[in-house]
Amino acid sequence: ASREWLQEESTVEIAPGVVIGGGNALVIAGPCAVEDREQIVKTAQAIKKSGAMALRGGAYKPRTNPYSFQGLGVEGLNLLSEAKRITGLPIVTEVMTPEDIDLMLPHADILQVGSRNMQNFSLLKALGKVDKPVLLKRGMMATVDEWLQAAEYILSGGNFNVILCERGIRSFEKRTRNTLDLNAVPLIKSLSHLPIIVDPSHGTGDRTLVPSMSLAAMAAGADGLIVEVHPNPKEAVSDGDQSLDLEEFDDLMRSIKRLLSAI
Ligand code: PEP
Ligand code: MN
Repeated sequence: ASREWLQEESTVEIAPGVVIGGGNALVIAGPCAVEDREQIVKTAQAIKKSGAMALRGGAYKPRTNPYSFQGLGVEGLNLLSEAKRITGLPIVTEVMTPEDIDLMLPHADILQVGSRNMQNFSLLKALGKVDKPVLLKRGMMATVDEWLQAAEYILSGGNFNVILCERGIRSFEKRTRNTLDLNAVPLIKSLSHLPIIVDPSHGTGDRTLVPSMSLAAMAAGADGLIVEVHPNPKEAVSDGDQSLDLEEFDDLMRSIKRLLSAI
């Protein structure tokens, strides 16, 4: 993962013509969880119109409480594929266990490793053998070095298509869900050749903070963003408080375009 191994920034092609890293900003958007056909298709169509390049949505959800909604599973994967057929957007979805990888491969363009699984070494080793990009989220209690070593598990297995994602770390601050560590962006850029994106949704837990943290992340040099968007955040089964609605996301995309043309 280090700069010593590769001086120039590595790029990851997530779908034909959709590249992240090396100066290509990638915005991934979509709901925390796939809920039903209307929700995912409507979101996919709207975010595409606003300029997002990929659709996110969890079919397998790592919930803190075992009685919380755990995701639609295979039905969710089929709905993601349907949204892709309709919009052409590549799909980003979380894999929680090595046993699910084969079943997910036909549906996912990027396999996401969640914060809670950053040091699930058997999962990381299995993903090292897969021919699909991996989005490796930072563990909520992981140092930058631990995170880079987790990336190393995937790279050393032979899969060079790794994208890092800063999503906030636990701190003493209770007003926000996590403390978004934007230091990590320029730090990773100096230590590693891997692309890094930022998740301002989990990083703050609060939709009112998402636009400013998105712009700050891009200004800090991030290669893109992953943003939670829901057509009706108040009704969302998970993470509604931190989800933008379709109009708020459209406004955010306009601000990002303005920022990127200014820097
Ligand atoms: C998610 O992206 O929905 C998610 C569960 O994120 P994290 O693993 O960062 O908590
Ligand atoms: Mn979420």
